[in-house]
Amino acid sequence: MCGIIGITSNKPVSSAIINSLRKLEYRGYDSAGISTLSDGFINEVKSEGRVDNLEKNPAIKSMEGSVGIGHVRWATHGIPNTINAHPHSSETVSVVHNGIIENSAILKKSLITKGHKFKSQTDTEVIVHLITEYLKENDLKNSILKMLKKIQGSFALGIIFKNQPDLIVGARRGSPLAVGYGPNENYLGSDSYALKSMTNKISYLNDGEFCIVKKDEVEFFDENGNKINKKILELSSTEQSYDKGDFKHFMAKEIEEQPFTLKNCINEYIDNINNDINIYNFPWKNNEISSVTLIG
Ligand code: GLU
Repeated sequence: MCGIIGITSNKPVSSAIINSLRKLEYRGYDSAGISTLSDGFINEVKSEGRVDNLEKNPAIKSMEGSVGIGHVRWATHGIPNTINAHPHSSETVSVVHNGIIENSAILKKSLITKGHKFKSQTDTEVIVHLITEYLKENDLKNSILKMLKKIQGSFALGIIFKNQPDLIVGARRGSPLAVGYGPNENYLGSDSYALKSMTNKISYLNDGEFCIVKKDEVEFFDENGNKINKKILELSSTEQSYDKGDFKHFMAKEIEEQPFTLKNCINEYIDNINNDINIYNFPWKNNEISSVTLIG
């Protein structure tokens, strides 16, 4: 597991990315990193260990750019160190990734024969080189589609491009990814908690979908590149209360929250208007059910 964040705005984004990475630290903390675009260049700053170390990195203070991505890592391929920390970048793209690319070894071999030089031991870096390769002959959307067709495994991705100063691409298969909507800025994040201090307006990507996030517009696409519409959900403050509150531990809080959490889960499947159960292909008649047992 790991956490990813992306922000495109009309103001510098590095400190907001650091703040969001702190909220994502529960997902991974062996290393952390950020990349932003400024003056037409991709700048990368990465540190081993927790987000605190990244924040103390002297290069962060001078990091400019109003579009950027960030990552907290929990290594699957390659030891936890600064080189393997995300983002991974070429001259043209920078990528953060949550998940595992299962066919990375075979893709890496074929990219090396095409002259690509790898810096890290991660599975993620093949994504960087694939997009860089496809961009030579394709536009952005087709390069993303081709890359997504090539990789196998699970992923949530955040990608920025040297020649696109106001744009982040997000994509997911297996790993979670949310889009957030703010004033003159928009966001990508592994969960709504990471975006909480910036917005309560959220859309979730489904498996296979990707999106192009600009500061004043977000477009969503299915796995074939067809444009799709997304619901924007407004999360209430209770849905967003992810801090410990007065509880001593998260576990105590979660135990206390169980009745509300179950109610929220079940509510999604209740059709209050028709007094019915709203589950596709539900095989029983409602009046035949006398009790429900939940196990987990
Ligand atoms: N597989 C990637 C890596 O090892 C991402 C791991 C993660 O999800 O943190 O760098």
